[in-house]
Amino acid sequence: MFQTIKRSSGMDTITIRELELFCNHGVFEEENILGQKFLVSAKLFLDLCPAGEDDELTHSVHYGEVCYMIKDFMEEHTFQLIEAAAEQLARHLLIEIERLEEVEIEICKPWAPIGLPLNNVSVCIRRGWHRAYLSLGSNMGDRLMFLEDAVATLEADPCCHVLDATEWMETEPYGEVEQEDFLNGCVELRTLYDPYKLLSKLHEIENEAGRERKVHWGPRTLDIDILLYDDQVISTKELTVPHADMHNRAFVLEPMAKLAPWKRHPLLHLTMKELLDELNKKRDTERQRDTEYE
Ligand code: ATP
Ligand code: CA
Ligand code: CA
Repeated sequence: MFQTIKRSSGMDTITIRELELFCNHGVFEEENILGQKFLVSAKLFLDLCPAGEDDELTHSVHYGEVCYMIKDFMEEHTFQLIEAAAEQLARHLLIEIERLEEVEIEICKPWAPIGLPLNNVSVCIRRGWHRAYLSLGSNMGDRLMFLEDAVATLEADPCCHVLDATEWMETEPYGEVEQEDFLNGCVELRTLYDPYKLLSKLHEIENEAGRERKVHWGPRTLDIDILLYDDQVISTKELTVPHADMHNRAFVLEPMAKLAPWKRHPLLHLTMKELLDELNKKRDTERQRDTEYE
């Protein structure tokens, strides 16, 4: 259902311009009580080809219904800031309208009470769904329960959809620490979170599973890493994407080669299947060299 991915640069749009509403958003109490005029514009990004081909409204988005959704949302909530109104409205539309990949929202306040002759003030934001691949692992306690609870928690979050998941596979621990075997797998996620919000959501889920960080690469009830996030390359203190060591890990590449064999690593420019083949070749050469030395 959520598989349409024609990324925004080439994506079609439906534009709603300056829908006039009367609502109660503002920092001043009088604004919340008396209300004022707002103009809301929305650019909806989606693939219009199916509707264009067969002339069927069910294959597009009904812009009349979207106008009522915007009106109801803006009238039912009261925000201090039009920034918050835009953020929450964008999220609401992306969650409720299945075909929508991205949305640009502009909220304009023509009567902003600043005591100066201002024509109007507006904020404009653009938000959308992203595709992320996650690696999950556990080697303490009820491993299967920790992993399956994590996937269920992600799926229960309206800002995430688990599109696909691999089976869990038993793997030997990675690194030097002596510990129990792991259960590992990967999931493909559609998410509204930016990479940092996604990371903090994953930390929350790890904490709920009683994760403690005592030994680096040590035993853990649950570990969730972001492998890929769209084709973004991120290198900051908190986050490295693509995951810095994914190409060296069979327990990551084996599930990824099943989940998305065609998916290309944005820095190494090899597909998941090619990365796995490379790693297997490297391991075979090392094994051969070790037996020759013996
Ligand atoms: P590794 O990342 O080598 O698999 P680990 O998973 O055991 O090791 P953690 O203790 O879980 O390491 O994470 C340490 C920190 O790594 C996190 O707090 C997070 O800020 C940072 N980090 C950087 N890049 C990523 C990523 N792609 N996914 C998850 N965490 C990341
Ligand atoms: Ca990890
Ligand atoms: Ca981790």
